[in-house]
Amino acid sequence: NRQIVLAARPEGEVEPRHFRLVETPLAPLADGQVRVRNHYLSLDPYMRGRMSESKSYAQPQPLDEVMIGGTVGEVVETKHPRFAVGDKVVGMFGWQEYGTSDGTALKKVDTTHVPLSAYLGAVGMPGVTAWYGLNRIIVPKAGDTVAVSSAAGAVGGAVGQLAKAQGCRVIGIAGGEEKCRYVVDELGFDACIDYKQNNLRDDLKAAAPKGIDGYFENVGGAVLDAVLARMNAFGRIALCGMIAGYDGEPVPIKQPQLLLVSRLKLEGFIVSEHMEVWPEALKDLGTQVAQKTLKYRESIAQGIERAPEAFIGLLKGRNFGKQLVKLI
Ligand code: NDP
Repeated sequence: NRQIVLAARPEGEVEPRHFRLVETPLAPLADGQVRVRNHYLSLDPYMRGRMSESKSYAQPQPLDEVMIGGTVGEVVETKHPRFAVGDKVVGMFGWQEYGTSDGTALKKVDTTHVPLSAYLGAVGMPGVTAWYGLNRIIVPKAGDTVAVSSAAGAVGGAVGQLAKAQGCRVIGIAGGEEKCRYVVDELGFDACIDYKQNNLRDDLKAAAPKGIDGYFENVGGAVLDAVLARMNAFGRIALCGMIAGYDGEPVPIKQPQLLLVSRLKLEGFIVSEHMEVWPEALKDLGTQVAQKTLKYRESIAQGIERAPEAFIGLLKGRNFGKQLVKLI
């Protein structure tokens, strides 16, 4: 069983030397256990936080242990009454080729209408994140202008499409012309701003002439500063991520007084703390993916040995859509 463990904690940027590939023999299956061959690993920005020791909402990833993470795969051996060989499952086995479990936190999924990999993206944690921040924090009304950063990403792409389906004007913010073109042409956003052009304030003014009522924040830093200046009175901000600061010092908000002046509501959230919405959100997202009204894109790295490099790429914006590692 090939696995990737955390070899060292990064101080700033993540490098390949922070990971190590190891091979561990699989122990025979005990009664009540099930063995899964993982088909895809999910790579997610939150893993960067877990690699550090600093205090956060979750425990740090222990050194020399398999990197945490969501997985999807197929049951290949079972001594568990609830699972049969061939079942497709989503679990949290981390960066390794096989997972062994007593069935806890392992969920069977139906791949008739939804591809297996989508259970790590649009019909998985990132999809629910989009759904929660939009529907429980921003709570958009038809006609509102909703903006979202990292708009070509796993979470951002879903946010915009869900808001559009609710009758909003939707503005994406993403890095580069190609991502912006995709966000408008494929995902159906009304506009998308390339923040790398360094003209955010004017571009936002042009894209959101009536101001912004709801903002789904994935990035922080200069992008958040520019959007704050464009928010309408009583606007709502779902603070989902601040990836611009993950590799170093957190990026401060330049003009926090705008929260007061514009009487904004800003709420941070961690999707795993809102398990009560998951069934409803997953049902909604699954239906929309099956009907192809919710679109998504994937960046797929091939083979477990490519996971570190793909993860580093994700933090640098080299991914285009949900970052996965395909194992078979
Ligand atoms: P994405 O698919 O959006 O990938 C990350 C993207 O972040 C990159 O592609 C890049 O896009 C963008 N990015 C990286 N660095 C910067 C930077 N310095 N400035 C601006 N953009 C940057 O990842 P996810 O959809 O999985 O996650 C999106 C956000 O949601 C993250 O912040 C993540 O931590 C957060 N999240 C929070 C959860 C919660 O419970 N609160 C749960 C899940 C995710 P580009 O090329 O456009 O710059």
